[in-house]
Amino acid sequence: EKSKLLTRSFVDVSSDLADESTRFRVMQWNILAQGLSFGKDNFIRCPRDALDWKFRRLRLLEEILRVRPDILCLQEVDHFGFLLPIMKKLGYNGSFFPKPDSPCLFTACSNGPDGCAMFYRTSKFSCLEKESIVLMRDSNKALTNQVSIIYKFALKDDSRLEVAVATTHLKAKNGWEQLRMEQGAYLVNYLHEKFCNTPLIICGDFNAEYSEPVYQVFAESPLSLGSAYKLLNKGLNCEPPYSTWKIRGGFNGSETDVCHTIDYIWYTKNRLKVRALLNFPTEEDIGPDRLPSYQYPSDHFSLASDFMFTLDDD
Ligand code: NDP
Ligand code: CA
Repeated sequence: EKSKLLTRSFVDVSSDLADESTRFRVMQWNILAQGLSFGKDNFIRCPRDALDWKFRRLRLLEEILRVRPDILCLQEVDHFGFLLPIMKKLGYNGSFFPKPDSPCLFTACSNGPDGCAMFYRTSKFSCLEKESIVLMRDSNKALTNQVSIIYKFALKDDSRLEVAVATTHLKAKNGWEQLRMEQGAYLVNYLHEKFCNTPLIICGDFNAEYSEPVYQVFAESPLSLGSAYKLLNKGLNCEPPYSTWKIRGGFNGSETDVCHTIDYIWYTKNRLKVRALLNFPTEEDIGPDRLPSYQYPSDHFSLASDFMFTLDDD
């Protein structure tokens, strides 16, 4: 039905040895920059009306409001000015950091550059530190066109409990695997130096499937990170089948179905436990035209994970 947002629900994940009173929710979402939604991306099966900003922005808010995250990590934000006052009214604060040379600047309906944004619920967390960085190549420290926002928070209920949260959007497209790996390695090293003793959560659109080198950079980093969504299907212990699913038009009427997992929530395994995860709609519910659609406003699904701090074992 055209009028309803796709149905999703939270799935409980095993939760021993953690403190339920410290539970908090993190949401990761590439919201599809409005500036990219009409042109380059070429979502030929998506009705034009569904991409109209006046409609789509309400669907974006609907998804955020039903998840009710305590920390919200976004990519492809080119309407921060729309989001900030609304999020403030809802009890959040946050910030935006644009890509240095955003492709959104060169589109017909440009509303400025796209970039990453992060919001946090001010009744839940106090902000201890914030920084916005341009990602460099790990090998030669050359600047790239991708960015990250990093916050360090303390839980308001127990200010001894701190967590650092990063959001990023790595370089897109085939052929850029090496750059993605170097951007990932740079971010991992940066976080390792700055936050070696603080539990970490790293959210992002990595533009990389689990088989790519950058995934290994995170999975095998000295930060002891786990990918939260590997726990969604407990028995399998693998990434879900899709975090994005779209049909792109090509030359002479060709259509390419793109269905894979490239969005992740990484967390420090021995300091945080995953309590629940937001599941994905089924193929049948998504429908034959895939995303975006009237029923879902981005080509990427949001991810959301409830975390708890582990209990001290000393
Ligand atoms: P990326 O290569 O990282 O991609 C930018 C966006 O394009 C991403 O948000 C990505 O979405 C999306 N995307 C991925 N695959 C496709 C696809 N097959 N078709 C359409 N869109 C896709 O961008 P960069 O930051 O590296 O580069 C910015 C771009 O802007 C450069 O290509 C540069 O040439 C261009 N530019 C254009 C200028 C002009 O005058 N036209 C001037 C300056 C820059 P997702 O992450 O969801 O996959
Ligand atoms: Ca995109």
